[in-house]
Amino acid sequence: MNRVIVVGGGISGLAAAHALATGLNPPRITVLEGSPRLGGKLAGDAIEGVPVDLGAESVLARRPEAVDLIRAVGLGSDLVHPATTSAGLWVGDRIRAIPPTVMGVPVDPAATADVLGDAAAEQVAHETDLPAPALTEDVAIGRFVADRMGSAVTDKLIDPLLGGVYAGKADEISFAAAVPDLYAKLRTAPSLLAATAELRELGQKRAGQPVFAGIVGGINRLIGALERDLTARGVEIRTKLAVRRISRTADGFELEAGPVPAPTYLSADAVVVAVPAAPAGRMLGELVPAASTELAAVEYASMAIVTLAVRKRDWPSEATGSGFLVPSVEGRTIKASTYSHAKWAWSAEAGGELAVLRASVGRLGEEYVLQRSDDELVRLAAADLRTAIGLQAEVVGSLVTRWGGGLPQYAVGHLDRVDRVEAAVAGVPGLAVCGAAYRGVGIAACVASGAKAATRVREHLNALETMKS
Ligand SMILES: Cc1cc2nc3c(=O)[nH]c(=O)nc-3n(C[C@H](O)[C@H](O)[C@H](O)COP(=O)(O)OP(=O)(O)OC[C@H]3O[C@@H](n4cnc5c(N)ncnc54)[C@H](O)[C@@H]3O)c2cc1C
Repeated sequence: MNRVIVVGGGISGLAAAHALATGLNPPRITVLEGSPRLGGKLAGDAIEGVPVDLGAESVLARRPEAVDLIRAVGLGSDLVHPATTSAGLWVGDRIRAIPPTVMGVPVDPAATADVLGDAAAEQVAHETDLPAPALTEDVAIGRFVADRMGSAVTDKLIDPLLGGVYAGKADEISFAAAVPDLYAKLRTAPSLLAATAELRELGQKRAGQPVFAGIVGGINRLIGALERDLTARGVEIRTKLAVRRISRTADGFELEAGPVPAPTYLSADAVVVAVPAAPAGRMLGELVPAASTELAAVEYASMAIVTLAVRKRDWPSEATGSGFLVPSVEGRTIKASTYSHAKWAWSAEAGGELAVLRASVGRLGEEYVLQRSDDELVRLAAADLRTAIGLQAEVVGSLVTRWGGGLPQYAVGHLDRVDRVEAAVAGVPGLAVCGAAYRGVGIAACVASGAKAATRVREHLNALETMKS
């Protein structure tokens, strides 16, 4: 039987393994995970007995891949949608409503006045006076929008909204990769405002369909369920075995893993590389040098999640909705906060007298913030929350989770880079890459990329079988 090795036990690698294991004539599959646990950026714990997600906490439900996988591994009955997703924006002295936008790009100029001020809102309205954008090549979304609508839009709307996904800088993030629908519209739309209005209309047609989904007890439960499902299907899962090098042999691949002084060698007919860009670049250095060089150039932002538990009776009544985002220009420590007890009914129920909330800290280029001790990060997050929402409550429990190199940065030209990586990898039959570094950082996109890598590998194995017969 053919053997496929999947390198990396995050959601992308596990999704690839699942797609292979549930397809026709499944091969022998081994997942190699370098760390002691599966899941990568999906991880969970409990704070004062209340389950919490330490990394990702929801999936996009507007596209099917993640929700389908949750159902496929038996968690369909625990699939839930947020009780509220109305986040605010901490600008100036209070939390304000986020005006309608497409990823921070305004739809209705008048509605931006509370956040941007009257003069800046006026400038947004005049965007339609400019020549049509006629975008033909990728640009930094923040710069492009600032040029047309004013820098306040980039600073106060795009930065926090995109920052929530990439922990990156709006002035460096690729428009084509980060907001592809809007980017595509700008080839033909007469203005940015016309394009956002059109997309908004499309979005309204889908009104009522939930945008996000979660799992009772935390999205991280998907990992345990996948592990059980894969194991039951005969997939071998090995943790604490980091791959360092992949090379070609006469009839397949050899992987060198484990510590340098005592390496483990494994052979495979096909390999799926499902690790972040830096380790992927290193392990592919000899096999696909062109892809390796491209991957080495993908930057990552580091961040931390500070999870806090307070008593529900101390929760300030003015703190409504699911939380808030914070523009970098506001100079606060936290860049967002999610009220988990308000967003997820299961969290409110599990919490009993306790309310759990989380705050994220750190953006690209702000690694110094993460040099602080856990206690200091908790103190700073609590201080920001006190100012923002009047949370005077005693913190009765806390957890700080650091995500060094947590989120890949899609710089201008990212999609061209990914095309080049994929073209180089396609030159090695039986090899596939997938993960957050390529065509979407969200879990749903990662699941899709894992499934696509599995298809590529399966096609190779089918071709091998045809040659043998
Ligand atoms: C704090 C945070 C919050 C987020 N929130 C959300 C959210 O709410 N919703 C959402 O959709 N997305 C969210 N994301 C993004 C999303 O979680 C990630 O992009 C996604 O989980 C990445 O999955 P992956 O499998 O591609 O990579 P990873 O999760 O990084 O997994 C890669 C795995 O490969 C392993 N590995 C690395 N090197 C080697 C090696 N040499 N050999 C073997 N194994 C190796 C790693 O240990 C890791 O387990 C969040 C990300 C972060 C950091």
